[in-house]
Amino acid sequence: MLAAAGIVASAPARAQPPERSHVLELLSEVPVIDGHNDVPWQYRSRVDNHLERLDFRDTGELEPAMHTDLVRLERSGIGGQFWSVYVPADLDGPGAARAVLEQIDVVHRLAAAYPSHLEVARSAEDIVRIHARGRVASLIGMEGGHSIESSLAVLRQLYAVGARYMTLTHSSNIAWADSATDDPMHGGLTEFGRQVVREMNRLGMLIDLSHVAASTMHDALDTTRAPVIFSHSSAFALTAHPRNVPDDVLRRLPENGGVVMVTFVPPFVSEAVRAHGEREDAERDRLRQTLDEAGVERELARWRAAHPGPEATLSDVADHIDHVKETIGVDHVGIGSDFDGISSTPKGLEDVSKIPDLLVELLRRGYSDEEVQQIAGGNLLRVLREAERVAWSLSEETPRDDLMVELDGTPAAESRP
Ligand SMILES: [Zn+2]
Repeated sequence: MLAAAGIVASAPARAQPPERSHVLELLSEVPVIDGHNDVPWQYRSRVDNHLERLDFRDTGELEPAMHTDLVRLERSGIGGQFWSVYVPADLDGPGAARAVLEQIDVVHRLAAAYPSHLEVARSAEDIVRIHARGRVASLIGMEGGHSIESSLAVLRQLYAVGARYMTLTHSSNIAWADSATDDPMHGGLTEFGRQVVREMNRLGMLIDLSHVAASTMHDALDTTRAPVIFSHSSAFALTAHPRNVPDDVLRRLPENGGVVMVTFVPPFVSEAVRAHGEREDAERDRLRQTLDEAGVERELARWRAAHPGPEATLSDVADHIDHVKETIGVDHVGIGSDFDGISSTPKGLEDVSKIPDLLVELLRRGYSDEEVQQIAGGNLLRVLREAERVAWSLSEETPRDDLMVELDGTPAAESRP
């Protein structure tokens, strides 16, 4: 109709909604550097680290499906990935160092097996160079301080084979640090734990405070001379999960220079999902008082059918990014997906290829192009460069040879608390 055409012609020019293509352009300059992905654990748990039995080019048809493969990485904007060389908390004690070396070996072999897509990175400059060649800079993040078997010598040698961050604990306390999800034992870091932090500073290994107790966060911040990271944590103020970062710790980050890499784990980003999980746990505890495990599982399945759980969304994740930005500024926000380490994902963030959609949402919320690039990877690059500068400034120091038994009175061989 003519009248309708007239209306269209005279409609005021409106800015286009932000598009994925625009985000991908931004990411060609500064890539996503994701703080945490558990693909190496998938190799261990599914195929006993036999690389040839799991084709990483396309994992979408696996049962259960994975969140990551080379096809989807190409659409993810990821140019730097910390691959987690996770070792379960119950593997504390002799054998943990072997397990972490086996997982580090997986990352090296994976990069060697897919050289046109992956290359191992050991520095900020490596990330920039490898991304410029169109590959994913593959960094190694150790999840859990039990991996060093309470030995600074082991810590140094793990740095030598490429480890660039260490999460001080996983889900349980270790001999020298308290975890967020265990009963308080040391009140934070022991004296040996502080020496670990100092030695990490000297090496240039990032201190990762995801999974640790708030007391450990504070002790590490009191001790470190380099910026810290939270490789996969969100904001406690929005979702009251002990794995998240409380505001009093957040407020220390501007002085420290560190970054919270906001994670996608549904119970960490949605208060409704977290509270639902708590109700399910309470129901399980109740059932266990009268039933055996098979009975508990049967009744729990019925409970779940009667109480369908809420779903976390991409928008929830963006809310956590908003909170960190509003509380301490955009310089301290990053992304730490935890893909392939979680069994469910937020709606809209089902796999690595969806990460640009999160950045589209940030543009929609009024973030500038530069802020999106900072959150994607710019802030993490700054942190890594600063940790490298601190290590260089400490290069006159000799390696520490303290034993845990000398500082804490606990022999390393009995490190399981
Ligand atoms: Zn984790």
